[in-house]
Amino acid sequence: MNFENTITFAAGLDVNDSLNEFRQKFHIPQHNGKDCIYFTGNSLGLQPKSTAKYVQQELNDWAKLGVEGHFHAKNPWMPYHEIFPQQLSTIVGCLPHEVVVMNSLTVNLHLLMVTFYRPTKERYKIICEAKAFPSDQYAFESQVKYHGFDPAEAIIEVAPREGEHILRTEDILSVIQKHGDSVALVLFGGVNYYTGQLFDMAEITKAAHAIGAYTGFDLAHAAGNVELKLHEWNVDFACWCSYKYLNSGPGGVAGVYIHERHARNTSLPRFAGWWGYTKETRFKMEKGFDAIPTAEGWQLSNAPVLSMAAHKASLDIFEEAGMSQLHEKRKRLSAYLHYIMNDINSRQQEKVIEVITPSDKTERGCQVSMLMLKKGREVFDALTKQGVIADWREPNVIRVAPVPLYNTFEDVWQFGNIIETLLKH
Ligand SMILES: *Cc1c(COP(=O)(O)O)cnc(C)c1O
Repeated sequence: MNFENTITFAAGLDVNDSLNEFRQKFHIPQHNGKDCIYFTGNSLGLQPKSTAKYVQQELNDWAKLGVEGHFHAKNPWMPYHEIFPQQLSTIVGCLPHEVVVMNSLTVNLHLLMVTFYRPTKERYKIICEAKAFPSDQYAFESQVKYHGFDPAEAIIEVAPREGEHILRTEDILSVIQKHGDSVALVLFGGVNYYTGQLFDMAEITKAAHAIGAYTGFDLAHAAGNVELKLHEWNVDFACWCSYKYLNSGPGGVAGVYIHERHARNTSLPRFAGWWGYTKETRFKMEKGFDAIPTAEGWQLSNAPVLSMAAHKASLDIFEEAGMSQLHEKRKRLSAYLHYIMNDINSRQQEKVIEVITPSDKTERGCQVSMLMLKKGREVFDALTKQGVIADWREPNVIRVAPVPLYNTFEDVWQFGNIIETLLKH
């Protein structure tokens, strides 16, 4: 499609957008009495208007029923987490029994490493992306130390080539091959939080398996954003949070995927709790842990129902919108943003905005990271002043994520217009 950098053109795209009405389902933060341009759905997704009703339902049942709510609430709390696998499995591309909702992201990353990072003297390395999200870095480092290894030797980071911003798949694969049978685990983000690069999870998994290593992905920036086929790609495990693209509220309950070949293996080592115990006999409260032979076997605690109710409200919206429609709109929104940035650059004497997110559609999701070569902070402050909520990363990167559920093409045009106006002065 040939885009145009005009408000009429952007408004036309919105009119023809089949997901246009979904924006009405969200509370949009306000700025001077007007809707903000909210481009930080990659950091904290907006609140669905329906969330209050879902949470209120559980508060009411708690008030009315007390402990009886475990069995007699409208949505009984005991098996509350069982309402998620069907919907989540379509979002991350797996079988329903490969997915479970529990805990928070970094906790789950640790729990999964307990199972999938069991280093030996010969095989102890973790391969990851350089500049992984800090919480992940700390998780890797502390796990390595916990097992008595030296992070400086055991953690192998794959970095971009000199003068480049994103990783080349060929470089990731060659590092995996080079370290061969000293590698215990290959653990990448699905989408890098800083550059917005979407990694080739299928190829990384293949390469990791070829050297006998496990492979896992932190999908914090991928779940609810890009197409995922975890089962088909043969990924061993993955985890994600629900409060970014999945709009389930600050600190919301997180998700885990474990491939069925591992999920079925109840003898795999893990840290156990009563909620991972075989349901039929759980309440006999006997000695000796007997794991559920699905991803549920990694659960520790009973369901945090209030946080799960918020998650459910959001997943119902995803289901109503449909993943393929969401992906289609996401690609168009992001293509329009790339087009606008190129268009602005083309009218400057020298390039001012270097988009460091891959230009290849198959290597990115919603997020666009822009390295500002001129007036970075000024541009960001002007955006903030005019009601654009974006994200600033030192030294001079602006991250924005137009999301298909509630952002519009007009948002993207406005964003470009504010930047261009500022550059004129
Ligand atoms: C957002 C994010 C986190 C945050 O972890 P929490 O445990 O939810 O606080 C961790 N890792 C990555 C890659 C993230 O993007």
